[in-house]
Amino acid sequence: MRSKVVVGNWKLNGSLAGNENLLRALLREIPRDTPVACAVCVPSPYLAQVQSLLTGSGIGWGSQDVSRYEQGAYTGEVSGRMLAEFGCRYAIVGHSERRTLFGDTDAIVAEKYARARAAKLTPIFCVGETLEERERNETEKVLARQVDALLQGGAAQLGGGIVAYEPVWAIGTGRTATSAQAQEAHAFIRGRIAAKDREIAEKLPMLYGGSVKSSNAAELFAMPDVDGGLVGGASLVAEDFTGIWRAARDAGKGK
Ligand code: PEP
Repeated sequence: MRSKVVVGNWKLNGSLAGNENLLRALLREIPRDTPVACAVCVPSPYLAQVQSLLTGSGIGWGSQDVSRYEQGAYTGEVSGRMLAEFGCRYAIVGHSERRTLFGDTDAIVAEKYARARAAKLTPIFCVGETLEERERNETEKVLARQVDALLQGGAAQLGGGIVAYEPVWAIGTGRTATSAQAQEAHAFIRGRIAAKDREIAEKLPMLYGGSVKSSNAAELFAMPDVDGGLVGGASLVAEDFTGIWRAARDAGKGK
């Protein structure tokens, strides 16, 4: 059985004082021995603060991106090794905002994924279709292309990683995929990976992302292939994020 995972993506939000309030509120609710892997992915300048507040707790932390380079003349980049030095466990790669606003192609995302693994981080590999692609009935074609870019390096790459299905039309829009739509996409992705390596596909945690809230989390997490959530906006509000964490904990108990 796959255990549940809930990861917050703070995006370009935060302040030293605000982060401390948020994290202290999360620490009051989320115990050290939580059965749900729980983490926050924060802007890199806050990693030291997050490390100091969360070390020894039940909440892990990570980055929202990782450089495809190891070191050198790449101004502005942050490497996997640097992230690992700050205790990061996770690195999001291929978030749709990186793909659409910052030119991360499938090939670049695959390089970043490999860099994250090489630094012993758990990559959270994001895939998802736009609204136009869904309306053109191209959801599976897009997901296949994005997943295949990683599978080209061998299915073993996906071992130890996490996949996040995030339909672009649901991110930050308040519009959530139905649990049936999420399950359908997750089952498709898992099947695509299983065609290469069944064992890796079965073990792979697959998160849904796109306007997850405490009010819709339980229904989403009840789906057999939905192993938790990647949470943007709601991860910035302690009671919303802990509500989602609770839904994941309770869904895990039910299975
Ligand atoms: C995200 O940024 O990964 C995300 C899912 O955002 P939101 O929850 O705000 O839709």
